Amino acid sequence: MTHQPELSALAAADPQIAGLVEDEAKRQHDKIRLIASENYVSQAVLEATGTVLTNKYSEGYAGKRYYEGQQLIDQVETLAIERAKAVFGVDHANVQPYSGSPANLAVYLAFAQPGDTVLGMALPDGGHLTHGWSVSATGKWFTPVRYGVRKETGRVDLDQVRELALKHRPKLIFAGGTAIPRTIDFPAFAEIAREVDAVLVADIAHIAGLVAGGAHPSPVGHAQVITTTTHKTLRGPRGAMILSDADHAKAVDKAVFPGLQGGPHNHTTAAIAVALGEAQKPEFSAYAHRIVANARALAEALVERGYDLVSGGTDNHLLLIDLTNKNVPGKPAAQALDRAGIELNYNTVPFDPRKPFDPSGIRLGTSAITTRGLEPEHQVKVAEWIDRTITAAAGEEQSALDTIAAEIREFLAPFPIPGYSA
Ligand SMILES: *Cc1c(COP(=O)(O)O)cnc(C)c1O
Repeated sequence: MTHQPELSALAAADPQIAGLVEDEAKRQHDKIRLIASENYVSQAVLEATGTVLTNKYSEGYAGKRYYEGQQLIDQVETLAIERAKAVFGVDHANVQPYSGSPANLAVYLAFAQPGDTVLGMALPDGGHLTHGWSVSATGKWFTPVRYGVRKETGRVDLDQVRELALKHRPKLIFAGGTAIPRTIDFPAFAEIAREVDAVLVADIAHIAGLVAGGAHPSPVGHAQVITTTTHKTLRGPRGAMILSDADHAKAVDKAVFPGLQGGPHNHTTAAIAVALGEAQKPEFSAYAHRIVANARALAEALVERGYDLVSGGTDNHLLLIDLTNKNVPGKPAAQALDRAGIELNYNTVPFDPRKPFDPSGIRLGTSAITTRGLEPEHQVKVAEWIDRTITAAAGEEQSALDTIAAEIREFLAPFPIPGYSA
């Protein structure tokens, strides 16, 4: 059982780190990975990230660099850009942001001044830190106004979005978030943004793979600017992109470099190009639709067992569960599930009476298990393991968790992960 390809030089030079990488590969293999923001990249993407491209400095953009020797890096970055434009159908793509948070910061830099008002979804309702939450630089340096979801439906309150936009006239409106189980209504957001002359930013970090595969409506034509990570449902390396229409292209590029960053991470750019190449294939569309089918099947199986899903279900890869009726808070539930071989995160639920570090809910996603080959028919079993674990956690029966973990290891054996051979 070892990491693939084998880490022979690393094991010789630094056995401590090599050992930890080996153990992490095994840990990733042995667990049902339901962390909604995680996935397993392909062997091809893994290989691209581990290349000599990491040795090169390339400040600037193709044809306009500040260092010599860019003959091949320019081609790599241009391929990534062209593929991003083709996959998402946009005029412009910047593939240099180091990750999703810096990509969003670059958008503020491009289209707002410090102190300007920005409208984003509140963190406890499913928004991201970088949409103006108070502890984030975006909440400290700008003036955030926040919308949420309706209590009755658990869905974004678009009337509230419009009221707040008309009252506060934000420069930027963010649509999207980290814990939204339902389809985002980009045309409705676009109408509101037009009314107040704001730039609409669609942050599709979570759903980019679903958009690429046609399993979630695209924001293209509605949002002038689109930010995304590349490592969630899109199944690429850790990184990010900013996509835009032609009018906003120059400002985006200037904000990323020289506004916010120095040299791009070329090995990551290559891996993004590889992942986008995978996303152009018909199999990827089937993958995206299977993610959603798996999430729906898991949601149904959990509802049948009395679980309280925010909004009652899901349209995408993500489920948010309020555990209040199960008499166990999110954190101990997540810890028990981890011990039982099911990896996910505790999460606030809308209108959560508990604190963010000890909230009422858990968040689940199906992109990683779909990559491994799990199908909708397996979700009844997954739901059963979740339920047995939560019941054991409520009754404090720790030994039951180890039994479940062993069952899960056996179940997962026929579903390999790239980068590890059992
Ligand atoms: C994950 C995420 C980000 C941030 O990505 P990092 O790569 O973790 O910085 C930004 N926005 C949304 C909506 C996200 O889900």
